[in-house]
Amino acid sequence: MFTREQYHKAIKSLNAGMTQLKPDGKGCSICGDNGHQAWQCLQNPLFMMQQTWSALTVWRCFHCNAIFTDEEKAAEHFGDSSSELPLCSRSIISLLHSTIRRLCD
Ligand SMILES: [Zn+2]
Ligand SMILES: [Zn+2]
Repeated sequence: MFTREQYHKAIKSLNAGMTQLKPDGKGCSICGDNGHQAWQCLQNPLFMMQQTWSALTVWRCFHCNAIFTDEEKAAEHFGDSSSELPLCSRSIISLLHSTIRRLCD
């Protein structure tokens, strides 16, 4: 649970962040630090929300149950288009093909 004070602090941070919508060469409008600006601030509730959501985004392969948290790695596994077979199934299919070919010989 959060207290009224915590909500007030979050709203204050959001209001301060809203005054710095693009790079202005100054320090962070929320905490005053010089190393970053408001949209990168750990005290910015919006930034923290975005970080959390991107950390929670996972892709699971229907075919082999592999789980990916990295979009690039997921794309690599699933292929570029939806019609393309995922990497795991492509190797299973090629294994099947070579097994069938061996059996037919
Ligand atoms: Zn800051
Ligand atoms: Zn897979």
